[in-house]
Amino acid sequence: MKVTDGSSPKPGQYPAMASGHCPNCGDRFKRLGQHWTTSATCSHPPFSKAQTEIILGTMLGDGSIHDPPSARNVRFQVTSINRRFLQWMADELGIHSNEVSLHRVADTIEAQNQKSAPERLASGDYNIRDQYVLTTTRHPELNGFRDWYGDQKRFPDNLKLSPTVLGLWYACDGSLRWGTKGHQRPQAWIAATNEADRESYLGQLFESTPCDPTINDGRIMFTSDDTERLFEYIDAAPPGFEYKFETVSRERYFERKEAFYRRNTTTNATDGSSTTGGDRRS
Ligand SMILES: [Zn+2]
Repeated sequence: MKVTDGSSPKPGQYPAMASGHCPNCGDRFKRLGQHWTTSATCSHPPFSKAQTEIILGTMLGDGSIHDPPSARNVRFQVTSINRRFLQWMADELGIHSNEVSLHRVADTIEAQNQKSAPERLASGDYNIRDQYVLTTTRHPELNGFRDWYGDQKRFPDNLKLSPTVLGLWYACDGSLRWGTKGHQRPQAWIAATNEADRESYLGQLFESTPCDPTINDGRIMFTSDDTERLFEYIDAAPPGFEYKFETVSRERYFERKEAFYRRNTTTNATDGSSTTGGDRRS
């Protein structure tokens, strides 16, 4: 979370912690998570079913856990250029959520990529945006996600897709592919590179859904008909990711995608709240 590059604008070094009134004792705390961890009489309020599904679906995509060796409980976190999406998630997670904050500005990311992955910068369409981060309080109900991590992130054998879970997975790691000519229908696909060696597992996940995608080298591919069934099945787009759910026409899709970058992302913002999006260099 700490920004170590002194040359970049200085975002808040740590996300503002969830503060407010404890629903059990009614007292106000600056750090509710700490209160629930240390109190003899109050404990972490449970996640609702909807919140649990939001976390699970996002864990399939951009979500991860923060689990230093000293931590009794883990916390859920999401890093994304899509500030609108993180703000929506913060609202949905309510009392469990810390504030969305600026994680790394574009210039810092660019400098770090130059060291670690110069070939990414060489590709012309690589447009670097600021990264934002959302974290939750540390919570015992999240500790089961520790089982997802060994050498790399692995999905659990008992994973059950639902309209919310699959919708968030698609929002994070999915894309629409459009044909190049004429009035073609889009095809959705989801990247699951961490499970590329478990094709039958990935296929079986969809047996509880109306979709029957093809699995190829960690890519979950939907035909045009299957893509229609996918969008009938999953929840509506989470705020910030509307363009990925725009299947009416190629033109509208690219319009919405352009609007996504203009409205929901920033470049070298000076803090997480003062800008309303847009590329400050343009
Ligand atoms: Zn309390």
